[in-house]
Amino acid sequence: MGKASKDKRDIYYRKAKEEGWRARSAFKLLQIDDSFDILKNVKNVVDLCAAPGSWSQVLSRRIYLPAKEKGLPDEDMPKLIAIDLQPMAPIEGITTIQGDMTSMAKVEEILAHFTDGRKADLVISDGAPDVTGLHDMDEFMQAQLILAGLTVCTHILADGGTYVAKIFRGKDCALLYSQLKLFFKQVTCAKPKSSRNSSIEAFVVCQEYSPPEGFEPDDLSRVLHERAKGMLQEDAHGNALGTMGWPTECIVPFVSCGGIDAYDSDMSYDLPTYIDEDGVERVKPSLDPVQPPTEPFYKLAIERERAKAQSGKKSAKQLLHEEATRR
Ligand code: SAM
Repeated sequence: MGKASKDKRDIYYRKAKEEGWRARSAFKLLQIDDSFDILKNVKNVVDLCAAPGSWSQVLSRRIYLPAKEKGLPDEDMPKLIAIDLQPMAPIEGITTIQGDMTSMAKVEEILAHFTDGRKADLVISDGAPDVTGLHDMDEFMQAQLILAGLTVCTHILADGGTYVAKIFRGKDCALLYSQLKLFFKQVTCAKPKSSRNSSIEAFVVCQEYSPPEGFEPDDLSRVLHERAKGMLQEDAHGNALGTMGWPTECIVPFVSCGGIDAYDSDMSYDLPTYIDEDGVERVKPSLDPVQPPTEPFYKLAIERERAKAQSGKKSAKQLLHEEATRR
């Protein structure tokens, strides 16, 4: 798909470039914030799967820059931390860490940045593993990432704090809702207008962190496992059927975020035009993406292919071609 055609078919892709966001996902966080006010009155915030950085840009524009404008003293300035497996180009007011958010060493590194002795008020995660196209597998992997984020929360989130994470609304997400409800007083499934209706993607907005009494982070897998066991349906003889029941604890409210005047991400919109010096209406040229990936996987593949070519070895493409012509 060409840039102009994508601009037409994806209004949020075009708007992201016009407004200087690194990815269209920025609108998802903006719309979630417009409905839930999650960025209000927060000081310490962690963006768990942050690259290329559009959610961190939202944090910078909605939290850091207004605080800087007010001229707050250093000790009152917000601490905004972004972590990702991928490297990330700098963003004003954001401290970036490269690494795996599921590693305890990285969790400790995050905590070390909160010098005020206060934990995080908000943890956000738009993380996604590489999608395979096998829906059950993708949903399972996404659920694991949400639970990994929850694990991080048990170490770094302050009581009363908020956790927002991307979820795939598959057949077993009821279990996830009920597990999250063990730790948060309010869990909502939010679907921003900028997330396509055709996609099973949504976001869990978990508010008022309050772990079970006496809870220690080491207890997490036991607590989650017990919850899962309690939801497995049994046959008349008490044998687990392997399917989830839907007790009332796992029913969560559903909120569409973005207001009725927000653009519909499943619609095509006309491209913006301008009138040239001859009075002719012309389509505005398509803009380039705001921040090209710093270390894309294809760069590594290209480097490997180049190294092979230089060493005289055959590239994967050449081998495939030879194989195809032999048949
Ligand atoms: N919110 C980002 C933005 O607005 O620019 C987009 C996030 S992108 C959809 C998903 C990111 O999750 C990828 O950059 C990927 O590297 C990251 N990710 C996946 N698993 C991770 C992990 N275990 N630790 C850190 N980052 C992870």
